[in-house]
Amino acid sequence: MIQAQHIHKSFGDLQVLKDVELTINTGEIVSVVGSSGAGKTTLLHILGTLERPDEHASTSLIIDGTDVTKLNSKMLSRFRNESLGFIFQFHQLLPEFSALENVCLPAFIKNTPKDVATKRAKELLDYLKLSDRFEHKPGALSGGEQQRVAVARALINNPKVIYADEPTGNLDSNTANDLHELIFKLRAEFNQTFVIVTHNDELANLADRKLIMQDGRFLSND
Ligand code: ATP
Repeated sequence: MIQAQHIHKSFGDLQVLKDVELTINTGEIVSVVGSSGAGKTTLLHILGTLERPDEHASTSLIIDGTDVTKLNSKMLSRFRNESLGFIFQFHQLLPEFSALENVCLPAFIKNTPKDVATKRAKELLDYLKLSDRFEHKPGALSGGEQQRVAVARALINNPKVIYADEPTGNLDSNTANDLHELIFKLRAEFNQTFVIVTHNDELANLADRKLIMQDGRFLSND
């Protein structure tokens, strides 16, 4: 479960998030939509602990029982690696590592044995139709293939919450549909929670709940 209260964020004089409140239940799939500059990515970064909200006495951000605003940087990065997964548009794969190694990396950081991590990574890559791309480096993969490797990497540690920023941005409609199916399959299997920022209407409308952001606030829920 994610409970965010009184989240504010400014960059200099620009107030990007204005007293945002949000509760997302475990296993819920929530999409966040809204015009460019509304603050969607900034919110996702804060919910993903990649960025801290502005300091206000009443701010809290509780993820799976932990108030992450109270954690120091070291505890925060450990929490992030163990509990959260990210699927971002600019997938930031490491260019010198193969697809398989990229996917295994978060598991190695968590001290998962190599054979266990490799087996799981292969299963995920198989599922994402990349069985013949294990040894390819990112530079030898198409944009859509790189995106799917990034998806597999986000899933390897079975994170409790997955944050996705335009996850279908680089994908053709078939692969995008596969990703939609995967999201629902994972939720059914592991009860994972998804927060998805998207301009893809189909994905936005498939979610259990669609939140509309405008000018740093949520407009309405449906
Ligand atoms: P888009 O749909 O175009 O991705 P968005 O709703 O995700 O937009 P954000 O990326 O959250 O919007 O940006 C909200 C505002 O905050 C924008 O005006 C952006 O320029 C500004 N902004 C975001 N990050 C920073 C930063 N690190 N420093 C300064 N301004 C920033």
